[in-house]
Amino acid sequence: MKIRIPQDVLWILRKLNNAGYEAYVVGGCVRDSLLGREPNDWDITTSAEPLQVKALFRRTIDTGLQHGTVTVLNHGTGYEVTTYRLDGDYSDHRRPESVTFSRNLADDLMRRDFTINAMAYHPERGLVDLYGGEADLEKKLIRAVGEPEERFREDALRILRAVRFAAQLGFVIEPGTRDAIRGHVEELSYVSIERIETELTKLICSPHPEMMEELYQLGITAKILPEFDRMMETPQNTIYHRTDVGHHTIAVMQQVSSRKVMRYAALLHDVAKPDCKTTDEQGADHFYGHPAAGAEVARDVMKRLRIENRTIDDACVLVYWHDFGLKGDLNEVSFRRGVSRMGIEHFPDYLELRYADMLGQSDYQKEKKEADYQRIVGMYRQLLEEKPPLTVKDLAVNGKDLMDAGVPAGPEMGEMLKKLLDYVLENPSRNTKEILTEYVKNA
Ligand code: ATP
Ligand code: MG
Repeated sequence: MKIRIPQDVLWILRKLNNAGYEAYVVGGCVRDSLLGREPNDWDITTSAEPLQVKALFRRTIDTGLQHGTVTVLNHGTGYEVTTYRLDGDYSDHRRPESVTFSRNLADDLMRRDFTINAMAYHPERGLVDLYGGEADLEKKLIRAVGEPEERFREDALRILRAVRFAAQLGFVIEPGTRDAIRGHVEELSYVSIERIETELTKLICSPHPEMMEELYQLGITAKILPEFDRMMETPQNTIYHRTDVGHHTIAVMQQVSSRKVMRYAALLHDVAKPDCKTTDEQGADHFYGHPAAGAEVARDVMKRLRIENRTIDDACVLVYWHDFGLKGDLNEVSFRRGVSRMGIEHFPDYLELRYADMLGQSDYQKEKKEADYQRIVGMYRQLLEEKPPLTVKDLAVNGKDLMDAGVPAGPEMGEMLKKLLDYVLENPSRNTKEILTEYVKNA
């Protein structure tokens, strides 16, 4: 098996070799190359110690000298060059107390998390695969290097990495590795929220968001996203659904595109259903008010995960509005009002979530739902063509005009602008200076 290594990386390997050191590409880039995927980045492992690496290259960054990592800059790209190392004891379930540099590649491969991530490659020496990584790639297995129990005890982050890689690659977690994970989920509390968010987001945005079920089965969401467990444990006895809230949520995640905002909106769109559930005399379940309540819970969940504000805000709008027009009773006016409140910039994402939500439901009234959806798409297209006023900024009068008409600046001004917007949302042809000034005079 030959791996095509970029020129800049080859140059770094050669330079280290020529100075008498061993050097290999290692980890994710070897795995991805063997899978025929484009690697995200090329990491190099070497027998040279950090100061020796620094002495060889003109432009370097001290990324983590104590851990042996120097970043070598070449044509504007950074390549992490890390000294062969052995990790000391892990007393905090997350970081080794000490690291020891080593002269042996084998030591370095032994400390890595999964067999598919523990392979090194050199253009002349070929593949170094001491743990059967290539065979596991073939078998599509995530298997811990060495004794799984010990590996998860050392570093609980690996629990999340296992499921994340399974989701990204479409792999299965090998049974022994899976059992070991179960025994160590408690230790997830030692992992920083930032690392949890990184791994969870990668899983959620992967080609296999259905691995959320694996997180649940392994008891991981109970620790990091208990809201999801409640969804998995909330049946929906209604003609509109065929599954519990959790499985419906997964189905919707699978139907939306892989953008972060869409996947988080899908994950959380029904998050308040467990709280909003009521059952009528006929035994049918209802979830009144869950979109608005869900937007609040979704915000809390995403804040706890320290997701960036932009994504939180956008996802919460989608959660809040995901049932907009569901009853199929929208008319032109109520449609414009809704779009105005939602913000037209969110509308394409709302449509995407709404369609995915529909596909994740039962077949009850499928044709009607599809027709309602198409009608909303039609109304949206028409709105894009006609460009009616939808915000205060679109009004034919501005603050200065209103002051001239005698409206005092301050809260009254804001109130008046809102009233005017409502007035033109009802009938866009009212959006002229004369008509609006007249309205203000009579108000
Ligand atoms: P990605 O495509 O997400 O970058 P990757 O395999 O390159 O995948 P990184 O987090 O960049 O993952 O780590 C690079 C390599 O370092 C891994 O392939 C693995 O060999 C090793 N590694 C990373 N994190 C751990 C960990 N927590 N425990 C053991 N080894 C790890
Ligand atoms: Mg990487």
